[in-house]
Amino acid sequence: MKRVKETTLQIDLDALTHNYRFLRAKLDQQTRFMAVVKAFAYGSESAAVSRHLEALGVDYFAVAYTAEGKALREAGVTAPVLVLHPLPSHFEELVEHCLEPALYSEKVLKEFTETAESLKLSAYPVHLKFNTGLNRLGFGTDQLGLITTLLQQTGAIRVRSAFSHLVASEDLREKEFTLQQIGTFRAAAEKLKEELGYSFLLHQLNTSGILNYAASAQFDMVRSGIGLYGFGNDPRFRQDLKPIMSLKSVISQIHELQPGDNLGYNRSFTASDVTRTATIPLGHADGIGRIYGKGKGFLMVHGEKAPIIGNVCMDMLMIDVTGISCEEGDEVEVFGQEITAADLAAGAGTISYELITAVSQRVKREILGGKTVDR
Ligand SMILES: *Cc1c(COP(=O)(O)O)cnc(C)c1O
Repeated sequence: MKRVKETTLQIDLDALTHNYRFLRAKLDQQTRFMAVVKAFAYGSESAAVSRHLEALGVDYFAVAYTAEGKALREAGVTAPVLVLHPLPSHFEELVEHCLEPALYSEKVLKEFTETAESLKLSAYPVHLKFNTGLNRLGFGTDQLGLITTLLQQTGAIRVRSAFSHLVASEDLREKEFTLQQIGTFRAAAEKLKEELGYSFLLHQLNTSGILNYAASAQFDMVRSGIGLYGFGNDPRFRQDLKPIMSLKSVISQIHELQPGDNLGYNRSFTASDVTRTATIPLGHADGIGRIYGKGKGFLMVHGEKAPIIGNVCMDMLMIDVTGISCEEGDEVEVFGQEITAADLAAGAGTISYELITAVSQRVKREILGGKTVDR
């Protein structure tokens, strides 16, 4: 891969193609694929990633908020877009950009219906979200009567899909609970179809759901985020998926500390021996939090692990490069395909999702590959 001259997040669209095809191959031919591109496509680059996925043939996109959906439209995405967590103050804007809301409570169902009626819409597609155990967002499966009554009173909206979200799809020790969630969702959704007298799409699986439960619960569509970006939430899938993001930087300066010298704010590191350190233009304002300091995280310098020492600063961090042959201007890798974001995150007690979505908008993005898409 191309060498970088500053802190850069490289995004490999060929790896994205690989991941999409791997996940797609786990599904039946007719199952639709919804690509979850919320939070700037998990910290990568929403426009390039979404356009590439659209060219690969994904059927649907999902974002968390209305503004994210608007950004997809501005990037030229024409496929349908589900907004997972729309707030009523953005309903008009959502309709203006042909985005489709997830409705998750009596209050938002009523508010969206009012907006749709005032805009004189007819059969506008909406998605009903059911809570089957996460207890975060969603109608109770005991609210079918209420939903049916409200929907039968209006022609302004029409159910395009019903969905639910699994609590622990990556954890096979929770299989019994997961199968119970699947059963609860299936029963409620089928009953709702009967009561409304028409059909709509059902979907419940996220990436780990696809990897572990595709046989029993792929329904009409699946929703995948993290898998597209290269993580399967389990070492079993390490060979199958390729991280699409590599975060790289360069060495700004090298120092040689003598025993007893300190480094970093609050003298957070004290050298016990002669120590060679490298300062990197990457800090907590770029997404590498203080949690990675004081030896919890490391960077790769010419294939060797260099621990992060001292406290991570806003714009910089320092690594111990004692015994590693390197000089000012050399490239370092924070995470990529060898040492992955999942590896680095694990050392600090967190998960790939948090580390990759934290890479701030200050970091330069470089798109690699993806020249030819052959469906
Ligand atoms: C974010 C999200 C997903 C994607 O989950 P992954 O584990 O990244 O595949 C799917 N469904 C809902 C409701 C989500 O919020």
